[in-house]
Amino acid sequence: TLRPSALVLPPGSTIGILGGGQLARMTAIAAAQLGYKTHVFCPENDASASHVATFTTKANYNNYSALELFASKVDVVTYEFENIQVEPVEYLSKKVAVFPDPKVLRICQDRVQEKKFIQSLGVGTANFEPVESLEMLQTAIQKIGYPSILKSNTMGYDGKGQVKITDPVDLESAWKKVCADTNTSKAILEQYIEFESEASVIVARGLDSIELPFSMVTNKHRNHILRQTIAPASLPEYVHKDAKEIASKIGKGIGLVGVLAVELFVVKRGDTYQLLVNELAPRPHNSGHWTIEGCVTSQFEQLVRCVCGLPLGSVDLMKRVTEKESLATDSPIIMNNLLGAEVDQWEKCLSQKGSHLHIYAKGDAREGRKMGHVTIIP
Ligand code: ADP
Ligand code: MG
Repeated sequence: TLRPSALVLPPGSTIGILGGGQLARMTAIAAAQLGYKTHVFCPENDASASHVATFTTKANYNNYSALELFASKVDVVTYEFENIQVEPVEYLSKKVAVFPDPKVLRICQDRVQEKKFIQSLGVGTANFEPVESLEMLQTAIQKIGYPSILKSNTMGYDGKGQVKITDPVDLESAWKKVCADTNTSKAILEQYIEFESEASVIVARGLDSIELPFSMVTNKHRNHILRQTIAPASLPEYVHKDAKEIASKIGKGIGLVGVLAVELFVVKRGDTYQLLVNELAPRPHNSGHWTIEGCVTSQFEQLVRCVCGLPLGSVDLMKRVTEKESLATDSPIIMNNLLGAEVDQWEKCLSQKGSHLHIYAKGDAREGRKMGHVTIIP
């Protein structure tokens, strides 16, 4: 029988987490601080999150007997990534409360559904066309024009399964590349947005149905991988307000319980800024790591509060004091990812003024792999 989700789970309860990476790891740390146990379920050996979780089940996501046992041992389930098959998550949701609801997962892992949903709320996205064959791509490009981006419809991350198309000779090779990268033949063609910058907002929504967005931040990518987050974004107040409104609308519209990141393109038209939604991630997000030290409540603690039915915490920035004990400057908080071998710089990071070092203990420092991050509070 399904445990009623409206119940508050008190400290001492166990939060199940699907996925064993750094997001699960930092969620487990936040959960432990509030007195909760965590049970990580993932297929990898020696997963990053397993070092800090109370329990770990190492099994494939489609191992239903392992899922059943897992469901019997946890009080609620959440997940750290959206590229997980929906079926196992739906299976779990028949046995134990799962937040965000698997329906949210269905929308967020399908770029076409995601954009349709966002537009249905009256929120802007890049123009797009679904593409399921080379012929459909040829028709779609007539409508979208050049340049545009062809993306696999599902399973994309860190720019994988994406090709920019700048002229007609690219079409066939682009189609083949996207299919081969992700082993699917469903894609989306998107208008290429000449953005001024990229930004994101993370919104939390608890069982009391109140949306609470964190501050909008600026994100800098290289090779499609997040390098740096600047918090808060240096943009006019009305843009911050727009961003929060968009995030709240999406959180409410999708029926969120948990945290969800809204990735944005910031477009400048004349003197005014306009926001377009790029994509959604129904989980803690790399661009929210700064909240650990930068906000009264971190995105990870907020997730724990949401899924356990606790009241949400304040998303205010931490008040900073200078040595003279006056309030500090408005200098933004900077979060730098440590990718691959950059993690070897840990000693230098430690001695930097105002730095908070986080290492994920992931072993193999492959190029581009997220191994840790440093948040600098000026
Ligand atoms: P992923 O799932 O890999 O994060 P995204 O859709 O977020 O995929 O794309 C990764 C990056 O590629 C974005 O952060 C942005 O820099 C660039 N990008 C994606 N879509 C567009 C677009 N329509 N126009 C311009 N740049 C884009
Ligand atoms: Mg993205």
